[in-house]
Amino acid sequence: MRRTSEISGFYKLTPAERLKVVKEFANLTDDDVRTLQSTGALPIDQANRMIENVIGVMPVTLGIAVNFLINGRDYLIPMAIEEPSVVAAAGNAAKIARVRGGFTTSSTGPVMIGQIQTAGVKDPHGARMAIFAAKNQIIEKANEQDPVLVSSGGGARDLDTKVIETQAGSMVITELFVDCRDAMGANAVNTMAEAVAPIIEAITGGRVYLRIISNLATKRLMRARAIFEKEALGGEDVVDGIIAAYAFAAADPFRCATHNKGIMNGVTAVVLATGNDTRAVESGAHAYASITGRYRPLTTWEKNSDGHLVGCIELPVAVGLIGGATAVHPVAKLAKKILGVKTATELGEVIAAVGLAQNLAALRALATGGIQRGHMKLHARNVAAMAGAAGNIVDRVAEAMVKERKIRLDRARELLDQLTKK
Ligand code: NAD
Repeated sequence: MRRTSEISGFYKLTPAERLKVVKEFANLTDDDVRTLQSTGALPIDQANRMIENVIGVMPVTLGIAVNFLINGRDYLIPMAIEEPSVVAAAGNAAKIARVRGGFTTSSTGPVMIGQIQTAGVKDPHGARMAIFAAKNQIIEKANEQDPVLVSSGGGARDLDTKVIETQAGSMVITELFVDCRDAMGANAVNTMAEAVAPIIEAITGGRVYLRIISNLATKRLMRARAIFEKEALGGEDVVDGIIAAYAFAAADPFRCATHNKGIMNGVTAVVLATGNDTRAVESGAHAYASITGRYRPLTTWEKNSDGHLVGCIELPVAVGLIGGATAVHPVAKLAKKILGVKTATELGEVIAAVGLAQNLAALRALATGGIQRGHMKLHARNVAAMAGAAGNIVDRVAEAMVKERKIRLDRARELLDQLTKK
């Protein structure tokens, strides 16, 4: 029998029926199916309403980073991430930051940008001015779409326009600035952008194509700053090492990608834990890192007059407390409860602080003993489990491999053999 992935009406099946199809296709065992059927805190009916063609859930570990003091308030930070060491590292960095009062944050507010692309305009610069002249009408039309957002204190506030030269000719781009309050805002902004498009077509005589939010959320920037005491970091050498590591990232995109990846370890973990859109925040962060035309670190590191290390971060963080999965996913709801954040902006600022902490931890490890030492312990446990170890045998196999500095699957199997024979 030829196996085909062309399955008409797959979407109409129940999750259990879909799973049956997948079982046959992929030769899954009954045990495999049971694994996929155990959906834990997210009931299958609810999962089935979240995305299409659902067959199960993918559980990701949820950890709590401790020690965070942000604007004088204590926070426990829920982090959803599969990578070992990240949660511990964030907590360690936050502990060092506490010595000098923790993190202080600020932000621009929760404004997102919606773009409306108009092509085929005869006089693009004249059209630009005509759009400005109709600003009030456009903003009014946008706000009519979302009375709930407006009554929550948000809504379309302003607009800008620009003419861009592209390989497909000149285009007039209208940018709508929408205060999204406690929503991430993509649905809200996209609806507004679609609603105002006919007005813009009528004014410009051109044709509107795209009407969509921009993830380069330069009007939703979150900032955090902390002073890390040189003694708590391990001395002046460590401070100098971290500054040199930052200079390396600032000068070289290959290093900078990994520098920013370390920041996103923390950022994405909190974004995911709270049910927010990780891709939206990541595309925004990397685009913002490149906004000067050159890919740059999202953090800065410098020494103050006392020789202590000062770290700052600034990045767009488009997250919400309502909308998307944030208010319906049972674990996301609890993550928000644990955080105790009252607004989407507060959540964004907390996320920026976590990103800064994560970066400090990574740079400190890299500038001192290298990251593998800490990482390896957890990695060894994963390798031991992969080799088939269970219960307390996992730790015994892992410890032996760390001691030997040989963390490999073949060695884990040998050790497991020896231990189980005993
Ligand atoms: P949403 O439409 O589900 O919720 C937002 C709405 O909630 C607002 O429009 C408003 O009517 C209402 N609301 C009630 N109380 C509010 C308050 N206090 N503050 C603000 N709004 C309040 O969700 P959304 O945030 O507009 O969109 C987020 C979703 O869009 C995510 O699931 C995301 O993955 C998805 N998405 C993202 C992109 C992108 O990033 N490019 C594109 C499309 C969709």
